Amino acid sequence: MPSVRFNKILIANRGEIAVRIISACKELGIQTVAVYSEADRYSSHVRFADQAICIGPAKSARSYLDIASIISAAEITNVDAIHPGYGFLSENAGFAEVCETSSLKFIGPRPDVIRLMGVKERARAFMREMGVPVLPGSPGVLKTPEEALSLAESIGYPVILKASAGGGGRGMRVVHNPADLPAHFAQAQNEAGAAFSSPDVYLEKYIPAPRHIEFQLLADEHGHIEILGERECTIQRRHQKLIEEAPSPVLGATQRAEISAALQKAAAAAGYTNAGTVEFLMDETGRLYFIEVNARVQVEHPVTEFVTGIDIVKAQIRIAQGESLAEIIPHPIEIRGHAIECRINAENPDTFVPSPGRITGFHLPGGIGIRVDTWAYTDCVVPPFYDSLVAKLIAYGADRPEAIRRMQRALEMFIVEGIHTSIPLDLRIMANPDFQAGRFDTNFISRMK
Ligand code: ADP
Repeated sequence: MPSVRFNKILIANRGEIAVRIISACKELGIQTVAVYSEADRYSSHVRFADQAICIGPAKSARSYLDIASIISAAEITNVDAIHPGYGFLSENAGFAEVCETSSLKFIGPRPDVIRLMGVKERARAFMREMGVPVLPGSPGVLKTPEEALSLAESIGYPVILKASAGGGGRGMRVVHNPADLPAHFAQAQNEAGAAFSSPDVYLEKYIPAPRHIEFQLLADEHGHIEILGERECTIQRRHQKLIEEAPSPVLGATQRAEISAALQKAAAAAGYTNAGTVEFLMDETGRLYFIEVNARVQVEHPVTEFVTGIDIVKAQIRIAQGESLAEIIPHPIEIRGHAIECRINAENPDTFVPSPGRITGFHLPGGIGIRVDTWAYTDCVVPPFYDSLVAKLIAYGADRPEAIRRMQRALEMFIVEGIHTSIPLDLRIMANPDFQAGRFDTNFISRMK
């Protein structure tokens, strides 16, 4: 039994994830409050929520990132909890703390845990202590270029400089030789300071042709932790995921079990609660190395939902109500079949330049094994102010070949007119023999062009 029962939840987000969270609330019989910027007045999350409050102008700093406005909206509407979605305030420990002091349940990990995981080199140090394999790199923040040079010398080039507070694939710089390091170091610090308001950078070994494999975790507030298998997110453009699948076509059962066991231990030691994802890179020899934790729900969570049958967003809400994992999900978790997600972005499929504007024609595919998560509809306007994700198309099959074929026919039946989308690129990837054989690394898209 839940120790509390939420009557109303505010969703501090927009777009498809806001609609996704509203759907979960509806199924749980919980009322919803949407917040929106002036640019999102006609967005479907506003329409589907029971109440909606405008929290400011288009610029996110004055709306979706404005803690005071969001807390006021929560207080006016008398909600019990706030779901932050992904991006925006989802990994902002200060926001989670303000929620706590305002007697609003933050649907996510505790502020101290968010803080630990959000400082990437601290998370690395923690994971290393816990026996999780971590890429060779700096033990903490790099203070001077000299320090970076001597560390890079001992690790061996290439190395990658990363922002401590980084995210979204931004602020990373690959360094191939010592002569380039001082300039890259200064630029990385500047970029980090401008983008994440902290100039702190650290360094780790650069893997030239890695695969990105990540593990989904759920933890309740009573010390139970489950790992819901992994996702393969190697198909990226500019270090940003485009296609994700579950399970990974290359991960073996022994390695899955070993990493899951290490993560259970680490999550328990950190006092981790709610949902989270632990990201790894796989090198050419098949070894996995931790890179970072995302202490929130992820864009690609639906592929895990398909293969486990677990509704991750409902699980997040029920965990926050104090329910035990034993009441929420089956044990042991079974992974069945194969799921693939294509992100449908409003962007030019060749140049990746954003393509905001009015969608003049919109037809969604359906049928067996197909799921579409979207906020868009015919005649809606994709605003230029936010990320370009218009929809997520997810295909499930008994095995990977069936999931690929299903994805192909669904992409062909997905019509978006008036703007450019990534659909043509997604189709080319699905038809690629190397993709179909599971032979790829993070450079796959740049090689294909
Ligand atoms: P962010 O938090 O900005 O998304 P991540 O640390 O999660 O940054 O890395 C995003 C992507 O960047 C990875 O999936 C991978 O493609 C690339 N990357 C990050 N670190 C390395 C590394 N050490 N070697 C090779 N590629 C890397």
